[in-house]
Amino acid sequence: MENKKIIIIGSGIAGMSMGCYLQMNGYETVIYEKGYSSGGLCTGWKRGEYYFEGCITWLMGSDSKNEFYEYWKELNVIQNMNFINDDDFAVIKLKDGSEFTLYSDVDKLEKEFIRVAPEDKEKILSLTDSIREVSTAQLNSDNAKSVNYKKVITKWCKITIEEFAKGFKSEFVRKNFKRIFWFKYDNTIVNFIVTMAWHNIKVAGYPVEGSRRFSDIIEERYINLGGKIYYNSEVSEILVKNDVAVGAKLKNGKTDNGDLIVSAADGYNTIFQMLKGKYVDDGIKYCYENLKTNQPKVYIGLGVSKKLDEFPHYMSLELSEPIKTYANESIDNIFVKIYNKNQYFSPEGKTSVVVYNNTNYEYWEELRKSSSKKYNDEKLRIASEVIDALDKYIEGIKSNIEVVDVSTPCTIERYTNNRNGSWMGWSKEIECIKNEKNLKRTLPGLDGFYMIGHWVGVGGGLPTVVLQARNLVQVICKNDEKVFTTTRL
Ligand SMILES: Cc1cc2nc3c(=O)[nH]c(=O)nc-3n(C[C@H](O)[C@H](O)[C@H](O)COP(=O)(O)OP(=O)(O)OC[C@H]3O[C@@H](n4cnc5c(N)ncnc54)[C@H](O)[C@@H]3O)c2cc1C
Repeated sequence: MENKKIIIIGSGIAGMSMGCYLQMNGYETVIYEKGYSSGGLCTGWKRGEYYFEGCITWLMGSDSKNEFYEYWKELNVIQNMNFINDDDFAVIKLKDGSEFTLYSDVDKLEKEFIRVAPEDKEKILSLTDSIREVSTAQLNSDNAKSVNYKKVITKWCKITIEEFAKGFKSEFVRKNFKRIFWFKYDNTIVNFIVTMAWHNIKVAGYPVEGSRRFSDIIEERYINLGGKIYYNSEVSEILVKNDVAVGAKLKNGKTDNGDLIVSAADGYNTIFQMLKGKYVDDGIKYCYENLKTNQPKVYIGLGVSKKLDEFPHYMSLELSEPIKTYANESIDNIFVKIYNKNQYFSPEGKTSVVVYNNTNYEYWEELRKSSSKKYNDEKLRIASEVIDALDKYIEGIKSNIEVVDVSTPCTIERYTNNRNGSWMGWSKEIECIKNEKNLKRTLPGLDGFYMIGHWVGVGGGLPTVVLQARNLVQVICKNDEKVFTTTRL
């Protein structure tokens, strides 16, 4: 029997890993990508002499103590990249001069919390014990450690970060928890526990070579396995015959047929545009009409003509004067990443810095539609205010800035189609988690079609989308009575 041909829409990490695993198992695949390069959101870009990192803050599985390590190895990532694990995951600096260090090591973190909130010792110990429990869990087994992990998740999953923070007696922690851990306040506190557990055992580093290189490596793996990617090839329609997906039509009018079609593109674009909303049920409609997408950000890349080795990599800074960001909202905190250990990001003696803050998609979209001048002026205004604020913490930075690069949620949407400029699919809030069951990889009434990527589930992130792809290839192999393999070169 001839090998099945499978069309994949989108060359993000979901689409490319799907392609890799299918090629390893003898399928013929082709990827159509709307952009001019692969990686989707997992990227970074050069501006002059500087590289601005656009993605990975932590990669779960960067070390062999985590099961995702093996998957990254299958995709050639581990063999070709180096990862940094900082002792201080982040340093939080407040306008009154005080500081809190979010230590990666749980014992140090526990001491730091008790230092600022001795009256909350019991609560702190319950938190740090949970971090320890999750640190030793093995998710892919049913042993006692994994059972304990499930118990921890069940204990905390219904508590939001806001509720958790409010439960402290210490005013310092109540007021500043949103700066200490900056996920949205309506997200569950489990996000904090799991994140700190990964950092405690150093299994979630960030790549020395950056996210752009990370995506290039997976692309090389795919092409070496015989896969084909076509760029500047946006799919406008998924072709369907008798309720079976049979091909893809590109914006330029070209069509291609396949035995299976897998969309690894934006969920809304796939379901309501490429498939014209014909294959939905009430659950799917509810999600796309009601659930919030991940809160977008404004990213400001700064090329600084001096070394900043004395500063931590990651800082959360309280502003002395709030900055007006959108509509009538203002922000009183910014997040700064100083790439002082990534030698490829800037020339000798210089530093690449990225600053980001939360924003609102509609605000930027309206501005962009009303006038490109207004949109660009607003980008420059925000950048200039952020630079002034930063200068108070990093003296002299302002006079050493050589390059400024600002991206908004509209930039993300324009490059990748991700709805509302979301950078991780759905928001991780409890309402989304409750409805996750409606976000499946198949659509009601449609055969020959699958969806993968960070819109198929809540949580997103690189490991999740690779796992989805790998699991789906196992299902496809099983349906075709093939033994799944990851070793074909
Ligand atoms: C700033 C930032 C920081 C992040 N930090 C981390 C982190 O530290 N750790 C982590 O694990 N994750 C992180 N993430 C999240 C992670 O990058 C995403 O969850 C993941 O990359 C999603 O992959 P994906 O393949 O599902 O989607 P995408 O990356 O969005 O890929 C979809 C692809 O499909 C293409 N496409 C869309 N529509 C069409 C169409 N109609 N036709 C053809 N092609 C189409 C797009 O151009 C894109 O290339 C971060 C993301 C951002 C932006």
